[in-house]
Amino acid sequence: MQSYIEKGGLRRHILIVDDELINREILGNLLSKDYEVHFAENGKEALDILLKREHIYSLILLDLLMPVMDGFKLLELLKEDEALRTIPVIVMTSEKDAEVRSIKLGAADFITKPYDMPEVILARCERIIELQEDKSLISAAEKDHLTGLYTKDFFTEYIKQIEKYNPEKNADVAVINIEHFHLINELYGRSEGDNVLTCIAEILSELFEDSHGICCRTEADYFYVYAENGNDYDKLLVSILDCLTKKIPAYHVHLRMGVYPDVDKALTAENWIDRAKTACDRIRGDYSRHIAYYNNEFYEKSKYQEKLINDIDGAIYNRDLIVFYQPKYSIQGDTPTLRSAEALIRWKHPELGMISPGDFIPLFESNGLIQKLDRYVWKEAARQIGEWKKTYGVSVPVSVNVSRMDIYYPKLREDFKELLETNGLETNELMLEITESAYADNADQLVNVIENLRNDGFMIEMDDFGSGYSSLNMLTTIPIDALKMDMKFIRNMQKDEKSMKLVELVLDIAKSLQVPVIAEGVETEEQLKLLKARGCDIIQGYYFSKPVPPEEFTKFFVPEENN
Ligand code: C2E
Ligand code: CA
Ligand code: CA
Repeated sequence: MQSYIEKGGLRRHILIVDDELINREILGNLLSKDYEVHFAENGKEALDILLKREHIYSLILLDLLMPVMDGFKLLELLKEDEALRTIPVIVMTSEKDAEVRSIKLGAADFITKPYDMPEVILARCERIIELQEDKSLISAAEKDHLTGLYTKDFFTEYIKQIEKYNPEKNADVAVINIEHFHLINELYGRSEGDNVLTCIAEILSELFEDSHGICCRTEADYFYVYAENGNDYDKLLVSILDCLTKKIPAYHVHLRMGVYPDVDKALTAENWIDRAKTACDRIRGDYSRHIAYYNNEFYEKSKYQEKLINDIDGAIYNRDLIVFYQPKYSIQGDTPTLRSAEALIRWKHPELGMISPGDFIPLFESNGLIQKLDRYVWKEAARQIGEWKKTYGVSVPVSVNVSRMDIYYPKLREDFKELLETNGLETNELMLEITESAYADNADQLVNVIENLRNDGFMIEMDDFGSGYSSLNMLTTIPIDALKMDMKFIRNMQKDEKSMKLVELVLDIAKSLQVPVIAEGVETEEQLKLLKARGCDIIQGYYFSKPVPPEEFTKFFVPEENN
């Protein structure tokens, strides 16, 4: 295949193999006007020449009867060699029988001896070279070099062809992707990466060979399959993984698969491929799931999410994002007193109405947009604290949520400090809630960031404590200023003895760390009493108030409005 490119624009090379000098001279003279001509006196000599510089030859003109190694033998040997068999051969003979035999050995055409008219010989050479080059060009575009699977364009084209002749057959499209493929390349080298890719390709070809499925590879590590409906894809994925583990035991390859089963024939092949990919990308990074199926609900959801992603910039610009505040009360005194507030985002979408953060926060956390959104909230909250201070002369510390992605932003500290300066705030007025799950990621770096923020004077609350990630060990190394007990504890507290014990345990842990506990999601007086009796310091929840817009929040600290 490479030969086409190398030959492009150049004079093609022809090898003439004949033991008789006179024949070599006649053909040489005839062809040298248009081609670079090389000669060999027998099959053996020809083979040596070809093996040395196989890629330069566009055509071989081969006599059959020669000493040392005859033409038939050479044809046989050429056929066995992967590279040499792509060079077309025109056989020169005077016998009909020999023609049949050489055709079986792969010859492309014949020139009869004694020689035809020169124009006929020239025209034949030209036609055979052209044919071969077209063929290579097509197969170069059709197949992926590394794996031998189809390229995506041809894959799509073949689906259309198959559909044309079998429109009644139900079909599936599936896609397989390697999680963090670039890491395999970086850690083990490109050839190891190639190894993984060819390995998957081999398994796929083998599996789908009998069931008339076709496969392609694209974008480095995406493999698509189009097959008759009804394959067991869970089983398929397991067998691919098994095979990989056997062939490449050195490390674990994590695959994910998206399946669009029983494709909608009213849509195009491209749509089917997109849908399988959407399903596949949906579980990216979710190590608990390996396979996702596309369905309509799924489609609606991804359309909805796509809309949210598209609309976020406009929402920031139009101030459709509103920061609500939920009070946190100290409860250990005789009467509860307002201690601080948590800033919680709301999206008032012009078409979709009020959207709950549960719909967009996890989405934006997964694609990085959360950083933009959090910055907006921090800025807005800081401005609000400053405004309350100026207008009412009261300081209401507000905690903002800091996502795990924010933590690794190098200018995080500077940004916070700038917010304080701009709004005339003290560091203890803007508190930071960092979710417990962030602590599992990269403990060393996190400790570092948190230590620096605390040295700057910021208070750090560990959010959603007990929701599943923290190890007790970590608590001794990570400096924090408060524990926010996850809402689940409060939900279950009155259900049974054990759950109550867990609440007490969290309170004990906090006590030994000498930090206050903030109980989230407290809805009833009874819950408050139980928590108070056990020494819980601060409460946040519907019992006191739902999160409210800032103009409403003033009622919690302005006495005359508190009615
Ligand atoms: P979170 O940080 O744990 O916030 C507390 C959530 O509990 C809030 O939900 C709040 O409205 C709700 N809540 C408070 N008291 C009660 C109660 O008594 N009962 C019940 N059932 N729920 C209560 P919300 O506002 O829907 O926020 C959900 C989550 O979204 C938050 O959980 C937080 O993780 C995230 N979030 C909200 N705003 C932001 C933000 O600005 N940035 C980031 N990164 N995340 C945010
Ligand atoms: Ca929070
Ligand atoms: Ca929380």
